This record gives sequence, C-alpha cells and structure tokens, in this order.
Amino acid sequence: MADMYTPQDPTTQFPRPPFPPQQQDGPGDIHKMDPAPDHGEKTYIGKGRLPERKALITGADSGIGRAVAIAYAREGADVALSYLAEEQKQAEEVADLVRAEGRTAVLLPGDLQQESTNAEVVEKAVAELGGLDILVINAGTMPTVDSIDDFETKTLDHVVKANIYPLFWLTKAASPHLKPGASIITTSSVQGFNPSPSLAEYATSKAGIANWTRAMSQQLIERGIRVNGVAPGPIWTPLQPAFVPNEKIEEFGSQTPMGRAGQPVELAPAFVFLASQESSYVVGETIAVTGGMPVH
Ligand code: NAD
Ligand code: MG
Repeated sequence: MADMYTPQDPTTQFPRPPFPPQQQDGPGDIHKMDPAPDHGEKTYIGKGRLPERKALITGADSGIGRAVAIAYAREGADVALSYLAEEQKQAEEVADLVRAEGRTAVLLPGDLQQESTNAEVVEKAVAELGGLDILVINAGTMPTVDSIDDFETKTLDHVVKANIYPLFWLTKAASPHLKPGASIITTSSVQGFNPSPSLAEYATSKAGIANWTRAMSQQLIERGIRVNGVAPGPIWTPLQPAFVPNEKIEEFGSQTPMGRAGQPVELAPAFVFLASQESSYVVGETIAVTGGMPVH
C-alpha cells in the first residue's frame, strides 16, 4: 500500500496498466481483484474533521464507498453502511474497520431499487446512530451496451432505479432529520460529462446525478444543508471487472492524462472535505477526481 501523505510523483504512486485480465459477476468482490485495491485500510490517517458526526453511506461494502467509510470513521464519525445482501461479508469487514476506530457501525443490507428500502435504510440509520448529519449517495450500477440495436427498456429501468431514484427517495426520507450544517454528497462520474459510447444508459444517469446535485443544492441550502458531488474517473473497484470487458480492463486508466487508474482511497479526501465544515461555502459543486480527465 502506497503512503498517501509523503509528497511524491502521483503518476507512479499506485499501479499503472496493464492490469491482468479478470472478470466477475456483479456486484463483485474486492478480494477477487488483482492487484488488490487500496481503500486506505493501512494508510488513511484521520485529522478530526468529522467529530461525532453521523453518516449514512450507500455502496459502502466495496470500492469508493468502502474507502469513504474507513476515512469517515478515522475522522471521528459513526457510520451506517448500505449495500446489497450478497455483499454481507465485505460489509462486515468495513464494519470491523469502523469499530476498530472506536466508532459505531450499522449494517443495512437491501436493494435500493425498492422505494421502501430507501426509507427503511434511513430510519434504521437514524435510530441506531441517534441522528444523521451526512448522507453519501454512492451506490451505482453500470451495464455496458455496445449498440443501440441492443437497447432494452429493462436495462434503462434498472439503471435509473438504481442510480437516480435513490437520490430522491433517500433525500426525502433523510431531510426531516438533517439539521443546518448537514451535508449530502453524490457520486457522479466523468461519464456524466464525457461519455463512452458503450455506456449511454449509465452516462445519462451520471449526468442526471450531477444535475440533481445542482438542483437539490439550491433547495436545501435554504435549510443550511449543503449538497455536492464527486465525479470519479476510472477507479479500480469491483464495478470494473463486473461490467467492463477484459480488453478494457487490461488498459484500464491508460486513457487519463495521468496514465493510470485511480484507487478508491484517492477519492476519500474529496468526500471528507465535502462532508466537513471546511467546505462551508461549497454548494452544488461536483469535484472531479479523474487523473486529469476534464469534466464540466
Ligand atoms: P462498487 O461496485 O465497489 O460500489 C458500488 C456499490 O453499489 C456496490 O458495492 C453495491 O453495494 C451498490 N449497489 C449497486 N446496486 C445497488 C442496489 N440496487 N441497491 C443497493 N446498493 C446497490 O464500485 P464503485 O466504483 O466504488 O462505485 C461507487 C460509485 O462510484 C458508483 O455510483 C459508480 O457509478 C461511481 N463511479 C465509479 C467509477 C469507477 O471507475 N469505479 C467511476 C465513476 C463513478
Ligand atoms: Mg460492492
């Protein structure tokens, strides 16, 4: 695991392509990935930026959500983890890492494509954490469809149900509990601004997330609640071997100016910044963490 605080050349800080060919069934398992992704388990050092805050993170078992959960706990927050039932083992590992910091971890399996699950996840998080200050809406799915000839309504229904509806469902359920100073953070993508041809359904949803972030930020700032987002570039998470074909895995990250993929831990500081009071004047923004791929 690379040291993330010593100044160094970022182009060689983490693994560069080629990556070994590998494929998984969704939603994917971090332990089947080669090289092992870095979620900051051994490297992230908290600086007390989220003292006694209570956070709900979706997609928290693996990838970016896992790195955010570890960072939030080390910054002083209690964390509720939302994930799919088949990811229970990975979620329990994250809960152990949160508890190792002396923080509370709440495990909330469930499919967020169901409206009722969203309300239940929020209510259980509020009940077991004793309130809610930070909502990270990060879960997502990414089917690839190479040609419009293969478009299927069910694919778009699935993408919109998983990637877009929870923005509204989770925020509606959470907003009565959020006090001034609370923060909502979304996960968009470079795909929302600069799409790949085989990701039209996904890219449309990610553009929608960035747009929702701007719209909702203007509603909720009246209540003292800030809404912002993060747009990752290509990040080494199970989403990739689960949805992207091997020829693209081998070259994964090479399309960025930096020439390498990002690691989940490299996203964590942006999510910490947007959740903390340090970002008090940042509203409706989507921060690019892309290895130099332009967004906006
Ligand atoms: P990941 O597979 O580790 O995380 C995605 C998580 O979403 C899964 O772990 C799962 O728990 C959750 N999820 C998916 N469908 C769900 C459903 N129906 N109900 C509940 N939970 C569900 O991969 P990741 O790359 O860390 O993805 C996190 C976010 O980052 C996603 O929104 C993804 O679109 C976004 N993103 C990823 C990349 C990348 O290159 N990895 C780039 C840009 C954006
Ligand atoms: Mg997962």
